[in-house]
Amino acid sequence: MAVERLRAIPSVESILRWASVAPWIERLGRALVVREVRAVTETVREEIRAGRLVVALDEVPREIERRLRARLEALERPSLRRVINATGVILHTNLGRAPLSATALRALEQIGAGYANLEYDLVRGERGRREVHCQEVLRRLLGAEAALVVNNNAAAVLLVLNTLAEGGEVLVSRGELIEIGGAFRLPEIMAKSGAILREVGTTNRTRLDDYERAITERTRLILRAHWSNFRIIGFTERPSLKDLVALAHRYGLPCYEDLGSGCLVDVSPWGISDEPTVAQSLADGVDVCSFSGDKLLGGPQAGIIVGRAAIIERLARNPLMRVVRPDKLTLAALEATLRAYLAGRFDEVPVLRMIALTPEHLRRRARAFARRLRRACGAAFHIRLKEGVSVTGGGSAPGVGLQTTLIALRHQQLSAHELDARLRAADPPVIARIEEEEVVLDLRTVSPEEERDMLRALSTIAPPLRDESPDGEPPHSAHEPARVDSR
Ligand SMILES: *Cc1c(COP(=O)(O)O)cnc(C)c1O
Repeated sequence: MAVERLRAIPSVESILRWASVAPWIERLGRALVVREVRAVTETVREEIRAGRLVVALDEVPREIERRLRARLEALERPSLRRVINATGVILHTNLGRAPLSATALRALEQIGAGYANLEYDLVRGERGRREVHCQEVLRRLLGAEAALVVNNNAAAVLLVLNTLAEGGEVLVSRGELIEIGGAFRLPEIMAKSGAILREVGTTNRTRLDDYERAITERTRLILRAHWSNFRIIGFTERPSLKDLVALAHRYGLPCYEDLGSGCLVDVSPWGISDEPTVAQSLADGVDVCSFSGDKLLGGPQAGIIVGRAAIIERLARNPLMRVVRPDKLTLAALEATLRAYLAGRFDEVPVLRMIALTPEHLRRRARAFARRLRRACGAAFHIRLKEGVSVTGGGSAPGVGLQTTLIALRHQQLSAHELDARLRAADPPVIARIEEEEVVLDLRTVSPEEERDMLRALSTIAPPLRDESPDGEPPHSAHEPARVDSR
């Protein structure tokens, strides 16, 4: 009877006295919990009235408790969460690009927790400049005259173009008018900077004299943009950076290279052959170049600009600098990352470590993981290992693959898309790839500690094994409540 069921709905006051609700009140505050209890009892009441909720009488409070817990858990869960990246894409832009090093994290903790000399000169005891941080370490690392850090590389491009070319023309090859993920379109940024784009050459071929013929008294800058996320292959041509610089200088123009990834070390020993280094760009004579802090460099999101002192000084004095300046946390994490490079401690940088993982190492780990998964889940999954490729991603080294071993999974009952969705719903969520109706996991981007979390997520998804657990391990219940991390 609907009426009896309606009467079985406990009062808000009595629900608030439930033992299971007390911890929520403590963590989230009474007002918030009261609001959720009201919302749940209201919907349950409406559903019973409409005949949409038909449960036994004594099931009503349990149903309310279940719904309340789901809502409170969702409320407590932060929007920005840690996830496990099992895609093998090292610089996954959607997953936050570069993980930070342990030393960068320590710097974040120290600087974030207290005050810092962000804009304070400790020797003179007076106001100092934010621009000085990271400057010295970048100068030493790259042999650059001067350096400047901004919020991201898109901001660097905007600042450079606005400072050096507002109202004038910038020459750029048609083949370099790029769009990268996250809707960064060079022509649009350029328009916002107030510089006028002068395209030269064709998509696949641009020669030095295409640039030369386009130079007029309105020209302010020659721009070279790195082909971040694509390759033009076949019948292609573009002048060397050295020749382009020589041409610019012959006409008294500066030459700017947007490097994109900002590789500080030569990564060709690991099979990434055509990613230019910042040092090479400077050695070729560019007057200014910019790159990201969180791509191959492996630091926090930042835009780094290095080049001639006179140009860097003009950039620093541009009022736009106030709009694109980095915060203290960025500077702290970036400086710590750069110092690791300066000391030659490359294996401290997670991105470089992941690039350097050998196919043998990854095969061994994939085999071991598959063994543990079989032991934990029995026949719930069809598991096979297959050769595959990881990529650096994030607009770096397009077309370059790093050899890896993939763990390919098929679930007995779930489709690949369903299994993928379950993995994303795990805590922490696991982000995988789907290839040919299989969910594939690449351990290159998964740390050994995260392997445990991933194994737990998969065991929860597998149907309960009941009494047939081979090692006598307790079977995981599919109904086990998701653990709530209240830290
Ligand atoms: C990635 C990239 C950018 C944008 O850098 P963000 O740090 O993401 O703002 C600009 N130019 C090139 C060539 C890039 O590859």
